Amino acid sequence: MTLVSDINAGRETLSRLIHQSRHCVVFTGAGMSTESGIPDFRSPGGIWSRMDPIEFDEFVSDESTRLEDWRRRFEMNEQFSAADPNSGHHAIATLVGRGKVAAVITQNIDGLHQRAGCPSEIVIELHGNATFGACLNCGARHELDEVRAIIARSGLSPRCDSCGGLVKSAVINFGQAMPVEAMERALDLAETCDLFVVAGSSLAVQPAASLPLIASRQGAHLVIINRDPTPLDDAAEYVLRGNIGEFLEDIA
Ligand code: NAD
Repeated sequence: MTLVSDINAGRETLSRLIHQSRHCVVFTGAGMSTESGIPDFRSPGGIWSRMDPIEFDEFVSDESTRLEDWRRRFEMNEQFSAADPNSGHHAIATLVGRGKVAAVITQNIDGLHQRAGCPSEIVIELHGNATFGACLNCGARHELDEVRAIIARSGLSPRCDSCGGLVKSAVINFGQAMPVEAMERALDLAETCDLFVVAGSSLAVQPAASLPLIASRQGAHLVIINRDPTPLDDAAEYVLRGNIGEFLEDIA
């Protein structure tokens, strides 16, 4: 593993690898969006240092937990709507537009890759999307405004008007099954890419964190761009230590 902290050296390395690559995949985590003003989970002051996560089973079994989950989702969504994509999101979108990045696998739920111009078909959301709700039974989509109005009117968490199932924010909570199609696509990309670039993930959440290892074991170059060390640094060819925006700016 080569550790690179110098911004220019990091940009040169990344640029060379991206331009040599024929099938590059970018994998992003919460650190991708901190430069847009959205806190990550595990950095000091991050979301987990302020509140415990709500597990899927608790959501399903307890009405007051469901209302608390919705309260947090509305708050989070206000923060997402107020944020803009940053220079890192824009650089990735430009590379996608030029055919240099084939797909973006993201753990993020904020929709900022799409808002930066990445076509939604090539953004694979492993942990769902917080900007709308979905019925846990039939999958029907429910808009947040509609959910907010139901809670304000009745004081109860919403049920699906088609099938009566529980409606939940379309994110994957801890303890909830991963989305099958997204996971299959992500695995396929990890197994076939020749360059896998991680940006802004502590690589602490499974099974998402297994993807960089799969890519590196099948022979892809693995680059990790992160402010803090990760458990997979030793498996990477290059670790760029610093802010994503600085390394990605101008790279496209
Ligand atoms: P994490 O919070 O565990 O780790 C983020 C990592 O990014 C940290 O290691 C930190 O050092 C690094 N980092 C932060 N800002 C950076 C920057 N500007 N440049 C370089 N590195 C930076 O995040 P994770 O690994 O994505 O896992 C946490 C879970 O949190 C994911 O499931 C994700 O769905 C969820 N989450 C999403 C958002 C979002 O959508 N924006 C925000 C918070 C949490």
